[in-house]
Formats: sequence, C-alpha cells, structure tokens
Amino acid sequence: MTTLVMFSGGLDSTAMLVKLLAESAEELRVHHIRMANRENRAEAEQAAAERIVAWCRSRYRPFRYSQSALDFGELEAIPIDYLCVAFVACQVAIDTPACDRIAVAALARDTDIENRSARQRRVFDALYECYRARKLGAPRIEWIYPVYHAAKRELAAALPGELLEMTWSCRRPVRAAAGFRPCGACKACLAREEI
Ligand SMILES: [Zn+2]
Repeated sequence: MTTLVMFSGGLDSTAMLVKLLAESAEELRVHHIRMANRENRAEAEQAAAERIVAWCRSRYRPFRYSQSALDFGELEAIPIDYLCVAFVACQVAIDTPACDRIAVAALARDTDIENRSARQRRVFDALYECYRARKLGAPRIEWIYPVYHAAKRELAAALPGELLEMTWSCRRPVRAAAGFRPCGACKACLAREEI
C-alpha cells in the first residue's frame, strides 16, 4: 500500500517527509501543489520543494514525486489552502495505485486545526465518493498526521541543518537578486523567528 504525502516545502511538511522516510518502509508518493495566488509564493515554494526532494532522495530512499498547479493569480481573494489540498489530494490519490493513506503536516498548535482538518476531510470524502461511484480508488482512505503533536522548535531540531535551510515558510516572498528572500513580517515568518 502507498501513502500520499502532501508536501509544501515548508518546515512542517519537510519534517513529516523525513519522519516517514526515516522511520517507516512504506511506499511514498510525495506531491507538491504549485499554489499561485496574490501572495506570489508559488515560485519560491516550488524551488524549495525540488531542492528538498532531491536531497531526501539521495540521503534516505527513493520515492515517487509529482507536482500539480492551481493558478488563482488573477483573483482578488486568496483561496483557502486546505480546500485546495483536499481537491488535489483526491485527484492524486486516484492517480496512485493502492493509495490507502494521506499524510498531511497539520500541527495541534495550528489555528482552529481540528475544525479545519474535519472540513478538509469532508471535502475530500465528497470528491472521493464520486470516483468510488466509478469504481476507482481504494475502498478506504485514512488521513494521518505524523507530526501533529510536535512543536515547531522540535521539528526544526529534528531536521539536518542543511535541510532546514532549504525549507520555505514565507507567504509573501520578496524578489531578490538571486531568487527570493522571506518578507520577515508575515505570520509564517514570525512563527519561524521563534525557532
Ligand atoms: Zn514572510
């Protein structure tokens, strides 16, 4: 059986990926969503995700990796991330033979996480049911939260330093001479300062 790992390239999902690679032998399919919206963070996240995947493949073990894109760049509103993740996770789960688990890097300390996770699974279930009506997908899918009880500081401490440097958290990157630099002011940047 295969676990689908939803991977953003941030600290939490990188720590989750390393945990699954190092502490289990299960087959993994890692998937990154290039989430384009007014925050303009898709490019910086994608670059981080690709560097991290290459590093993890060479240091741990091989795994399947893929990307897809949602482009809301011309919208004024910023769509809710967890809904985008639910939508994409369903398509990718169907695309993954024998996929019976979905791993997401939700943390107990994230704002309103229980409600958000429940809504995310409800959206996923409604979509998945449509595929099951076509006799596609495994009969049951379990959602797992491998780093749920960890504090950010613990996650950072558990990562090899080189890998921690590769992770990307900032929601509103600033274009710099070479690539991007974090804005230093968004919620994700502030959370990261605490590490
Ligand atoms: Zn920032």
